[in-house]
Amino acid sequence: MASISLKDIVKVYGDGYLAVKGVSLDIAEGEFVILVGPSGCGKSTLLRMIVGLEDITSGDLLIDGERVNEEAPRKRRLAMVFQNYALYPHLTVFENIAFPLRLEKGQFTEEQIREKVRFAAETLELQDHLDRKPANLSGGQRQRVAMGRAIVRDARAFLFDEPLSNLDAKLRGQMRTEISRLQRSLGTTTVYVTHDQTEAMTLGDRVAVLRKGELQQIASPRGLYEQP
Ligand code: ADP
Ligand code: ADP
Repeated sequence: MASISLKDIVKVYGDGYLAVKGVSLDIAEGEFVILVGPSGCGKSTLLRMIVGLEDITSGDLLIDGERVNEEAPRKRRLAMVFQNYALYPHLTVFENIAFPLRLEKGQFTEEQIREKVRFAAETLELQDHLDRKPANLSGGQRQRVAMGRAIVRDARAFLFDEPLSNLDAKLRGQMRTEISRLQRSLGTTTVYVTHDQTEAMTLGDRVAVLRKGELQQIASPRGLYEQP
């Protein structure tokens, strides 16, 4: 768990395009913040800068009060869950979840890896599917495997980039419940990008509205709804 602070964050892409125009936002430890806004307003750019997949042009990014602008993604210990899962088709569910731990060569014993994967699988109710391959899973189960990967990293925060947009309406509803349950039980700081109104209104503690690279407003889902 961690607090995340954005102080006047700016992103200018290599071609000179000003995608984020000075965003400031304080996310408390354990808070669930939804990021909404029209396509192209900079939501993904902002997430990618937080996780470290994109350089920050100017401003400060603080995690637990510490400036991490130049810190490598792995050191930040934030876990990003993408909409296209990025699972390895030739690996079992167990090995897909264990993958980030195996990347940290020599960091974890086989026993520790088994324990972490088991915890993640139980949290996500995947314990009966550990030997299966992604092709034999439902969309919702695949999504959960992707979340399992985030959990084994002991991530300080989860960053979701439209994680449910490839799922059908019924599954989206189930996963919404799942994510909400998971976030409450783990208490992990979460930033969640969506353009789904229902997700925005039901999942988060606060909703941040981004428009043309600027933070237009931030309020509780209810407060947002009541504002003109
Ligand atoms: P959103 O996630 O809200 O749809 P993005 O963060 O993906 O928006 O993009 C914000 C703006 O930055 C868009 O206008 C997009 O075209 C531009 N952009 C995104 N990635 C790049 C890039 N690598 N180089 C130049 N411009 C980019
Ligand atoms: P390296 O030690 O080689 O710099 P990194 O940890 O920086 O490795 O990242 C390797 C790759 O893993 C990145 O290119 C990125 O795609 C992915 N990655 C790193 N951190 C995360 C993360 N928190 N969430 C999702 N993907 C990540």
